[in-house]
Amino acid sequence: MDRRQAMNARLMENAELAPYTWLRVGGPADRLYLPNTEEELSEILRELSPVEKLTVLGVGSNVIIRDDGIEGTVIRLGPGFGKISVDGAKVSAGAAALDAKVAKEAAKAGLSGLSFYAGIPGTIGGAMRMNAGAYGGETRDHFVSGRAINRKGEIVTLSADDFGFRYRWADVPADLVLIEATFEVPKGDAEEEQAKIKEIMEKREATQPIREKTGGSTFKNPDPDLSGGRSAWQSVDAVGGRGRSVGDAQMSELHANFMINKGNATAADLETLGESIRTDVQKELGYELEWEIKRIGRLA
Ligand SMILES: Cc1cc2nc3c(=O)[nH]c(=O)nc-3n(C[C@H](O)[C@H](O)[C@H](O)COP(=O)(O)OP(=O)(O)OC[C@H]3O[C@@H](n4cnc5c(N)ncnc54)[C@H](O)[C@@H]3O)c2cc1C
Repeated sequence: MDRRQAMNARLMENAELAPYTWLRVGGPADRLYLPNTEEELSEILRELSPVEKLTVLGVGSNVIIRDDGIEGTVIRLGPGFGKISVDGAKVSAGAAALDAKVAKEAAKAGLSGLSFYAGIPGTIGGAMRMNAGAYGGETRDHFVSGRAINRKGEIVTLSADDFGFRYRWADVPADLVLIEATFEVPKGDAEEEQAKIKEIMEKREATQPIREKTGGSTFKNPDPDLSGGRSAWQSVDAVGGRGRSVGDAQMSELHANFMINKGNATAADLETLGESIRTDVQKELGYELEWEIKRIGRLA
């Protein structure tokens, strides 16, 4: 098979996306591409019509794909983008590398500062886009630079400043496909880091519905000055949202800010449930809860 044939084999028309997400909902993509090398991805992007809509998916641990699917082309990076390398204090990870694997590799090398990734089930691409973080650590903390490919198929390098990281947010233009992150991480103790990772995993198991179809935090923590210090999960609790259901969509009993798909939820069920919580928080508590989960795709 020549390179072109290999590329075509990784293009799917009208491709189901639900299996690529944690919540397991949503309609198909007009086109789904699973590139496995930078050259392939460059070529795909260069050849896309400038009016074609482009969406990038990681492992779908923070998205609701709407029931009518996604217009245009969806890119999901293949395992070729999952390499991790450690060189002294420098850790480079491909955008398809799982955060947890990066945490483990950094810890093994005796570097301290990326262990918070151990409990985040996304990829480094998603982590850069969301400034993913947990337990006081965030992607931006040790972030030096990111590489990406633009719609012309060119590789660009972005500094930490270019990302403009904020709480669960980065200012990355939507049409850039992020392909690699580089971190500079302080020296630590391998055993201590590995113990931290173990502790994080145990805590997650006890406090989050990680074996369910879920999407992680549904809402961002509101500004404490507006919410009187209430976090997102406390806000959901304060309006009686814990356990609330719409169809098979439910706010988790275990963690009130996590949504779960109990089996046959649709994206519309999940969105309706989230909006009902937002409405109640606005009405009863007087502030806005902002979605953390990205809702993507055609509006019905
Ligand atoms: C059980 C559970 C626990 C979680 N705990 C946490 C937590 O503690 N902290 C936290 O921050 N998050 C948490 N999350 C949410 C989620 O794991 C993170 O937001 C993660 O960074 C998303 O990565 P992903 O690969 O799944 O991205 P996706 O969900 O696939 O996409 C998220 C966003 O990133 C964009 N994106 C993904 N890859 C790329 C790329 N290569 N280039 C450009 N854009 C890209 C997508 O377009 C989308 O806008 C949790 C989720 C679950 C299910």
